[in-house]
Amino acid sequence: MLRLKEHDSRLFVLRGNPLKILPELVKALDAKHLTFEKDTEPYALYRDGEVMKELKDYSCDVASFTSHTLFDPESLLKPPETDYEKNIWKRGVPPLTYRAFISKALKAESNGDCVPLPIPAPTKIPSAYTSLDNLIEALGPEVAGPNGDFSVPSSEELNLELPSKEEESPHKGGETVALERMNSFLKDKARVINFKKPETAPTAFYPTASTTILSPYLKFGCLSPRLFHQELWAIEKPALKTSSKPPESLRGQLLWREFFYLCGYAVPGFDSMKQNPICLQMEWKCPQKGDSSPHLEAWREGRTGFPWIDAAMTQLRKEGWIHHLARHAVACFLTRGNLYISWERGAEVFEELLLDADWSLNSANWLWLSASAFFTQYFRVYSPIVFPKKTDPDGNYVRHWIPALKHMPPKYIYEPWTAPLDVQRRAKCIIGKDYPRPIVDHAETRKINLALMKEAYQGADYGQPNGAEIIQGKRK
Ligand code: FAD
Repeated sequence: MLRLKEHDSRLFVLRGNPLKILPELVKALDAKHLTFEKDTEPYALYRDGEVMKELKDYSCDVASFTSHTLFDPESLLKPPETDYEKNIWKRGVPPLTYRAFISKALKAESNGDCVPLPIPAPTKIPSAYTSLDNLIEALGPEVAGPNGDFSVPSSEELNLELPSKEEESPHKGGETVALERMNSFLKDKARVINFKKPETAPTAFYPTASTTILSPYLKFGCLSPRLFHQELWAIEKPALKTSSKPPESLRGQLLWREFFYLCGYAVPGFDSMKQNPICLQMEWKCPQKGDSSPHLEAWREGRTGFPWIDAAMTQLRKEGWIHHLARHAVACFLTRGNLYISWERGAEVFEELLLDADWSLNSANWLWLSASAFFTQYFRVYSPIVFPKKTDPDGNYVRHWIPALKHMPPKYIYEPWTAPLDVQRRAKCIIGKDYPRPIVDHAETRKINLALMKEAYQGADYGQPNGAEIIQGKRK
């Protein structure tokens, strides 16, 4: 960890369009080096490409480095060979299954030694500029912000309404918290060695969550994935014979992140159905951006009448994080399970509400959960009634997030509409008045949707990347 202030340095935040400001900055400072982190998202690739183009003929070395992922995605792509591959995979052919990814990335499944190590933080860095008047003169006063000092923008400047103390998420930002959280989770070596993601409880939540809650820190770069991997590998390696393995192990989770980053980089139109060559084409409801429906709104606001779904959506809204299997449950419910609404609408809601919202990971997981790509067992539908009972038969998670159901007896907690009226009265929760009736019949919608999914799978049509002429129209 390097604290800039302790090294007589600081962060300068420039306001403006990076496409314009960055080349101007380099020229105004007569900088000889411009370095930045490699980013794989479409807008970032465009932005970085434009800046590099602008500086092509300028005497400044431009270099970018992989640090947000374990591997440089480019290094894991295969050059396209056939005409089909050349048409689709402009950046190279990615492995499209986790297994294929692991064998490519790690050579052997368990070989964590292949993962690049984190680079130690420098012990010394040059002092920061003391006067930036020249810069303000060259670029205009607005780049320096309202105080003219290039400081980190305040919430007022960003026009953000801050939550009250009671409404604040318990997940605080920064590297210090990230390292504390990582170290505290890793202290329990037996838990790390035996970690199996499908066996962790989605109904446990902060401060006793069953997984690390490191996703927001990895997303924002507060925690280096290489450091996390190094620490994990140090625990797993000596116990390899007995430890859990990818994809279920904790290291396996970090490798899911890698795999999905790689796919996000290589697959054209990754976040869309129509332009994505690995995405099954389906006749979802609410297919367009901006489409709405009473079902979509009820899901988003946590008032579907299914307590497990509503509790998870409430936790998401309040804390900005929910367990992976809770994400499974609400995503399945919205798409192929019950509401048959486009996964793209679900991804948009997650993008808005998740603290760890991450373009590649969000798109990949929605593709998975809607059985549009990666996962094909569309007939495995989560029951919003049976699934949470496994880890929380008394429904304490629901009682915490939905106070209206606080006194509902465990027998009815996941399907309160079946409680006799006198039970509802005693629980001070009349269904339809104090808590909504279910917006759909689970068994009925599941059956209808399974038939639709079966049809889509039999047709097996995939998206077409913009402008590409797909040789055979179907996935190879
Ligand atoms: P842990 O189990 O402790 O795992 C450690 C780290 O591994 C995580 O922090 C994360 O970086 C990575 N990881 C774990 N599971 C996955 C996964 N399935 N895919 C990719 N990386 C994974 N994760 C995000 O970080 N951002 C998102 O926008 C996001 N959207 C999702 C949308 C849906 C519909 C689903 C089902 C999952 C989504 N995930 C997303 C993946 C996963 O749910 C979270 O990464 C995980 O729950 C974060 O909690 P954790 O840090 O305690 O995970």
